[in-house]
Amino acid sequence: GGFQSMHLNYNVLKGILKRGYKQPTPIQRKTIPLIMDGKDVVAMARTGSGKTAAFLIPLFEKLKTRTAKTGARAIVFSPTRELALQTLKFIKEIGRFVGLKAAVILGGDSMEDQFSAIHGSPDIIVATPGRFLHICVEMELKLSSVEYVVFDEADRLFEMGLGDQLTEIINRLPDTRQTVLFSATLPKVLVEFAKAGLSDPILIRL
Ligand code: AMP
Repeated sequence: GGFQSMHLNYNVLKGILKRGYKQPTPIQRKTIPLIMDGKDVVAMARTGSGKTAAFLIPLFEKLKTRTAKTGARAIVFSPTRELALQTLKFIKEIGRFVGLKAAVILGGDSMEDQFSAIHGSPDIIVATPGRFLHICVEMELKLSSVEYVVFDEADRLFEMGLGDQLTEIINRLPDTRQTVLFSATLPKVLVEFAKAGLSDPILIRL
């Protein structure tokens, strides 16, 4: 049950081995095959469990390579700037083996920089929800190309009072998308959100 038996693309495998990962962590072992199979997943996982790779490895497998199509194909929502930048770093490391382009949309950064980042047609956007919605409205961003959405540290997104914004984001995304949610805890609001925003999600807890 190593990464070699997960039927990963050679370039993705090369990227994770280069990162020094030898064996998948328990959360990776459980979630990666399900997400690669196209399932919506709710995974209870905390920082340190290897959750980032658990949702990014299937992202790379799903997107495969950069397409001529304009419009982002994957979006990762993070509660904080620090977490978003950490996720971006991982995407850039593996992404260079795969040829995918990523951009960050973060509260506190200049809107001008974000407009130009979006104009560069990234395949992947890593964003904090408030600024993402703001950019969506300002740029009349079309989200019809979005295939894969991640809510990372979802309990923290809700603790920060972003629930309404998350629901508004969900309503703008195409129904055909695959959605995964990673969270250390599963409070009732989050269960409700997952019921409304994910389709027949599989719950993974360790
Ligand atoms: P995360 O829970 O995503 O914040 O990851 C915690 C730490 O574990 C990070 O430093 C990762 O680079 C590392 N990590 C994730 N997956 C693996 C793996 N399969 N083998 C070794 N280290 C890993």
